Formats: sequence, C-alpha cells, structure tokens
Amino acid sequence: MIDDSPMATAPGLVPAGARVVRVTTGATWSEGPLWLPELGVLRWSDIPCNRILEVDPRDGELRVYRDEVEFTNGRTFDLDGVVVQCSHGRRAVERETDGVVTTVVDSWNGHRLNSPNDVVVASDGSIWFTDPPYGIVQPHEGHPGEREYGGNFVFRVDPADGTVHAMIQDIEEPNGLAFSPDESVLYVTDTSVALRTDGSGNHHIVAYDVATDFTCTARGVFTVIEPGVADGIRVDEQGRVWSSSADSVQIFAPDGVLLGRIPVPEIIGNLCFGGPNGTTLFIAASTSIYSIETTTRDAARREVAA
Ligand code: MG
Repeated sequence: MIDDSPMATAPGLVPAGARVVRVTTGATWSEGPLWLPELGVLRWSDIPCNRILEVDPRDGELRVYRDEVEFTNGRTFDLDGVVVQCSHGRRAVERETDGVVTTVVDSWNGHRLNSPNDVVVASDGSIWFTDPPYGIVQPHEGHPGEREYGGNFVFRVDPADGTVHAMIQDIEEPNGLAFSPDESVLYVTDTSVALRTDGSGNHHIVAYDVATDFTCTARGVFTVIEPGVADGIRVDEQGRVWSSSADSVQIFAPDGVLLGRIPVPEIIGNLCFGGPNGTTLFIAASTSIYSIETTTRDAARREVAA
C-alpha cells in the first residue's frame, strides 16, 4: 500500500476507498503486462534490461521469467491461449511457449518491420499490431536499424492464410491499440511527441470505425492525453477506454468524456485487467507494477478466459 497515494477520482469505476498498491518494483522500464490466469501471475517486459519478468501478487516477489529475449514489448493471448508478443530486437510479432519462440510475422511487402510495439487479437483470431520505430532508434530498446518500408503502420495478420495487411497508415507513430467490445471501433494511440525535442508530434488517441471487411476509417482524435503520452490502452466491458499517461490512469467514455483519473507515482507504460476475477487493473509504470481493484473487466476478457 502506498500510504500517501492520492485517492482515485473515478466514481463507479473503482470500489469506494480503493487505493493504488505497489505490487512489486525493481524493473527499469515496464511494458507489455499480461495476466496469466492459470499461473496466477502477471508477466511483463522490462525492455532496457532485455528480460521478461513475472510477479505473483500474493507475495510481490519479482521473478525473471526469461533473459535475453530480444527486447519484447506488448503481449496478449491468441484464441488458443498462447502468448503472442512483440519483439523489438527480432522486429517481429511472435508466439511464445515456455521460452520457445515462433515467428508470426517479421516483414511486410518484402521489407522488415520496424519494431512491433503492442498487439491485440480480435475475436476472429486476426492479430493486429502497431509498428513504430522505437526499437530501431533507441539502442537501449533494441538494435539500431532502418525503417525499411518507410512508414509506421498498424497491421492485421489474416487468420486464414497468415498474410499481413497495412490497415492504418495515417498515424505518425502508432503505439497502443484496443478494440471496442463489439470490435466496431479500434482505438490507436499516437506517441510521436515522445522522442522529439522540437515540440512537434502527437500525444493523442485516434478512434477508427472498422468495417466488416476490416477497412479502418478515422473518426478523428478521440482524446488528447496530458501529461505525457497514451502509451498502452485497454477497453473495458462497458466500452470505456483506460489510458496510460505520465501521472495517472485516465478513463474515458466512448464519446471521449473524461470519467476519472487514478494517480500513479511513476510514468505509466501500459496496463491490463487481470486477477482472480478479472477486475484488478495492473499498471506497468517505469520501475514498478501497481494495481487497483475496479468494477469492470477487459472487453475481450481473453486475459481471464484462457
Ligand atoms: Mg507501447
């Protein structure tokens, strides 16, 4: 428990009196949290240390799951309950089981990907991921390299034949992504301000209408995140968007209205729902994992259904 943590101002979103708890600490930059229901542990990426960590919230002990993992970032489950994760170092999206990695995709149109950042799996089994350059332009987050296809796109891997399709090309640097409960809307964050020093770039979330043929059409900016950027995001069962920022989890209604804020004492990289009931929000924030109980669950519930 963090005794001096400010109370969450998130009426109806967390139980009365709920406080942010520091589950564990000792990482460098935390990303890609995923609740593993069969083990009762949270797994996440410590990107600069090139390792995957786990913690059982019941004992709070930080454990190294795997070292030398080629700078993994975001992760989720596929429909079979297999972990799908992004690797900056391999410039790939991959499946991982007991440390054994198999590549899902590492190129598009004959060019290597940049450095896949975050990934979701839709109900049809398709894998959607963002591909900003952060793992090829920051030596501590991967290996220096070129943007071979010349952009930073959002891709979809077709579950029928494994083909890869560029679905969104108009976001400067896509990072987090999440579907609405019925998958008719895809939210994608743009963190292009993050590495720039000239004040340019975006720190907002864009909402896309997703057609039945998966064509994505931008509705426009859903919300601007301040302070910091919306790195990772999640959508809950009611369609609300839970976003990271530099100082808090920020929760928005489907129409973009801010519903609440949960202050967190470190810069947030990403977040996920999990725990025994799926109602615990885990927050990967710089050196630590925090949690708080909520009154909802992830829209996809894949984190607890495996
Ligand atoms: Mg990210």
